[in-house]
Amino acid sequence: MDALEYRVFIKECHKIVVKVGTSTLSYPNGRLNFQRIESLASVISGLQQSGKQVILVSSGAIAAGSGRMGIKEKPAGLAEKQALAALGQTGLMKIYQKFFEARGQQVAQVLLTKDIVEVPERRVNASNTLKSLIEMDIIPIINENDTVATEEIEFGDNDTLSAYVACLVGADLLVMMTDIDGLYTADPRTNPDARLIPTVQEITEQMINSAKGTGNRFGTGGMVTKLAAASVCQKDNIPVIITNGGKPSNLQHILSGNPTGTLFYWRVHTLNN
Ligand code: GLU
Repeated sequence: MDALEYRVFIKECHKIVVKVGTSTLSYPNGRLNFQRIESLASVISGLQQSGKQVILVSSGAIAAGSGRMGIKEKPAGLAEKQALAALGQTGLMKIYQKFFEARGQQVAQVLLTKDIVEVPERRVNASNTLKSLIEMDIIPIINENDTVATEEIEFGDNDTLSAYVACLVGADLLVMMTDIDGLYTADPRTNPDARLIPTVQEITEQMINSAKGTGNRFGTGGMVTKLAAASVCQKDNIPVIITNGGKPSNLQHILSGNPTGTLFYWRVHTLNN
């Protein structure tokens, strides 16, 4: 895709799933970054009010819970993580609600487990709920239902969850916001020769290998889970962009058609609506 085609294509995207990771929503010490969340709410409200339909997939529950309890490392035990997620999720939604409502935008909490992929009735239910929220101009804020998600029913990370959500709602685009500018040829934190890859049409073994080892303290995903999420979207022909969430305005740049981050696009690209 050349720059001109990119501009036309991205500008026409209407239904957009935005995934924000824990690293974008919190400081390295785990405490929530209110300023960042507010500016994210401002950018997303602006997009929604300009006629786009945004579905937000947000991590950060465990980090928020840990921050409130003064816990500095993500706990290893499942029950403790679930308890912190329960504590953090309410705090996180309260903050989102405050910042979105201040901009005249309604938001709703949707907590999902993997059975929406595996059990057809649940899939239909989840899909209908999301459809109704979208029709009512309410932005769904989705997280994994961490408090009940055990191995059999968990997505495990929100990168994967966001890809399934993009497929479920028939999104035109999935944007994953993280703590790095996009996909690199190597880990830029350790390798000074690492270069940003602006576009990807095919996910290769080599990409997966060089993506290993990235990630942060409170989140679960990394570049490998992002590549896996992009593969899920590829099946439904949904393009994916990985961009730096440190600048929420990147979302505006992207949707104005400015090449930002890494774009994954597939051989055939059509808009879903
Ligand atoms: N659902 C987890 C949370 O809200 C995050 C999972 C992830 O980082 O991918 O804390």
